[in-house]
Amino acid sequence: MKKKVNIFGTTGSIGQSTLQVFRGNRDAYDFIVFSAHDNVDQLIYDCKEFKPQYANIGNEKLFFKLKNALSDTDVIVSHGRDSLVDLACTKVDWSMSAIVGFAGVEVSLRCAEHSKILALANKEALVCAGKLLLSICKSNNTKLIPVDSEHSAIFQCLEGERRKDLKSITLTASGGPFRNWSLQRIQSATLEEALKHPNWSMGTRITIDSASMFNKSLELIEAMHLFELDFSDVKIIIHPQSIIHSMVNFKDGTTLAQLSLPDMRGPIGYSLNYPKRLNIDMDNIDFAKIGSLEFYEPDKKKFRSLEIVEKVGRNLDLGVVFNAAKEIALDRFISGEIAFLDMVDLVEKTLAESSLVNKITKKPQNVSDIFEIDELSREIAKKIKF
Ligand code: NAD
Ligand code: MG
Repeated sequence: MKKKVNIFGTTGSIGQSTLQVFRGNRDAYDFIVFSAHDNVDQLIYDCKEFKPQYANIGNEKLFFKLKNALSDTDVIVSHGRDSLVDLACTKVDWSMSAIVGFAGVEVSLRCAEHSKILALANKEALVCAGKLLLSICKSNNTKLIPVDSEHSAIFQCLEGERRKDLKSITLTASGGPFRNWSLQRIQSATLEEALKHPNWSMGTRITIDSASMFNKSLELIEAMHLFELDFSDVKIIIHPQSIIHSMVNFKDGTTLAQLSLPDMRGPIGYSLNYPKRLNIDMDNIDFAKIGSLEFYEPDKKKFRSLEIVEKVGRNLDLGVVFNAAKEIALDRFISGEIAFLDMVDLVEKTLAESSLVNKITKKPQNVSDIFEIDELSREIAKKIKF
């Protein structure tokens, strides 16, 4: 029997790496849903190659281009958010949730209800709605397999271990392009400079989040939810080579680490073939070639996102506020409105808004609560002046 699979965010960096993994063995799968927001040309190309049953484009202006281009195929096309969320309710064996940002949260939640396996790249779903997502997975018997490389590493190291033997985890971080820059130089960092990641090729937004280390802050919260850890049990270490993807520290003094070349096909293939490790045509590490692996404490004064995330780590319900403010800060930096280091000030100020904190005490319970807090946070974050 062929496995039924969905890929949400097909045209993005993770979506394209996912298709590369499938290229090696596509006859074993039935492709059900592909989706994209704006990149209609890539979506058309991918639909012609993989022939999914459904294709959704977010931007409705591009709908007719998609429809016309696929008119001689059996692909059923749709546009917009409502159709996208409906498509996430299709019963399948495996869904890749790889839409970037809060836009992917609802899709992740629906996939958690209707897919047997949720391969989760959209870390924002855990940051903004972690409790809800995990409870949906539990009540639907859905296996959540993280695709974020650090969390995949921890997931792999925990296989066959007793959860109660775990002491803490260490998330590795490359340190991004500004690792050795002075604070003064980082203040005037340009968009172009923030986009030069030393090791990984990723989407624009996560690449800038890696330069500010907001990405690592999100990953810390992601790990707390996934592995049921306290804030103090998640450590971050700078490892510029990005070879060790993260480590698990056990009570007997043993540390297990997962190592591989920095290529997202690794965690994607693992989530697809779990619990097996099938051939996905990736090289193993040539240690003699690498020579040495380095580790440093992160500089939280230069990368203050690692400092301010503690507030969220102590109250996970603030995750949705943190993420919304971070997304607005990123938009404002990309548009040239604010400087690189203003992003962290903006998030800190949004987190301090008393109206939001009061709202949070109500506790986000369901999708509409989470949407309401996200929207309010965005309104506040947009108004903060510099
Ligand atoms: P990307 O920007 O390359 O791609 C994003 C995808 O989401 C595209 O297909 C785009 O069309 C779609 N999309 C964007 N906005 C949308 C909207 N409003 N509605 C519907 N679809 C929309 O991003 P990426 O780098 O592939 O990252 C995807 C997710 O995976 C993010 O949550 C990111 O944090 C996570 N992630 C990425 C990497 C990586 O190596 N790229 C690693 C770990 C985790
Ligand atoms: Mg990561």
